[in-house]
Amino acid sequence: MTGFSTSTARVIATMGSHSALQILDGAKREGFKTLVVATESAAGVYRHFGVADSIIIVKSNGDFFSVENELVRKNAIIIPHASFVAYVNSEELEGSPIMYFGNRRILAFERDRSLQRKWLADAGLRLPRIFKTPDDIDRPVIVKFYGAAGGKGYFLAKSPEEFYEKIRGYSHRSLTIQEYIIGVPVYIHYFYSPLTKELEIMSLDRRYESNVDSIGRIAAKDQIDINLNTSYNITGNTPLVLRESLLPRVFEMGEAVIDAAKRLSPKGIFGPFCLETVVTPELEFYVFEISARIVAGTNLYINGSPYTDIRYGMPMSTGRRIALEIKRAIEQGRLDEVLG
Ligand code: ATP
Repeated sequence: MTGFSTSTARVIATMGSHSALQILDGAKREGFKTLVVATESAAGVYRHFGVADSIIIVKSNGDFFSVENELVRKNAIIIPHASFVAYVNSEELEGSPIMYFGNRRILAFERDRSLQRKWLADAGLRLPRIFKTPDDIDRPVIVKFYGAAGGKGYFLAKSPEEFYEKIRGYSHRSLTIQEYIIGVPVYIHYFYSPLTKELEIMSLDRRYESNVDSIGRIAAKDQIDINLNTSYNITGNTPLVLRESLLPRVFEMGEAVIDAAKRLSPKGIFGPFCLETVVTPELEFYVFEISARIVAGTNLYINGSPYTDIRYGMPMSTGRRIALEIKRAIEQGRLDEVLG
């Protein structure tokens, strides 16, 4: 606990899923009261770990806004995460009087693939090519389905013929055909402070995806014999540090995304965000996605990452960093600048 005055303390709240443990733990460490809105089945987790001062039970995560009045009455500041973004409907959030950490308008850009791509392209980042029609496929591509559970069922193809052959097994859904970048996946967790205008690298992770991350355990001949297809279903995350000489580029990319976001929405992007990249053998970063809020890969670093350890010299998770920003904003009378 810090010397944070409880007279000005507000409540930090989130939905009981994704990175709520980290967010609530970080808020407590910065001296806030905490609240979680959870289903009965999830609530036990937050009770068990003792991170929530109060728990509001909802029938399903989709009912989050049914308790909106209570959250407003309690002066709660909501911290969004991927489950929150997935369950909450944009119109409800836009029109809600709830205090929200971050820019709620930027979420529209995360949700919409083409807006997201426009944002990243406008930032001058290197993006995998998109193929408008399967007939144009002239290199390895990854076929992504939307509305799918994560990367489950994504498949690879090298030609229009292979695409049409493989797509037969799938019911018709909306999909994107994206150039497959050969390299290593690197997920970069940033934090941008609207108070100090400084960008921080919080941590990095790589995802552990089934079955693609286990295919190397089987000989190539066996892969062919059993007619194995790849899938990218996220199962967990593993920690990563980057070659130090790549860090200047990592900062440049983050800054470029922040500048581009200001052109999309006046408040731009602030707080935590993540660039999902593949790094080629030439050490070029291809960005295939941006998450405009905390990502689950940060759950590895409740006690801090090598980067936050150097910068802060004390455990500093992304969840705690959010609470620290809110605390500083309250202390400086600048709360409006961290809400959006
Ligand atoms: P969503 O964010 O919509 O839930 P997702 O995050 O599960 O989907 P993606 O992140 O787009 O799906 O892709 C899943 C995985 O596929 C990535 O973690 C990465 O391993 C791999 N991948 C995605 N796009 C590419 C690409 N263009 N080149 C190489 N690998 C890729």
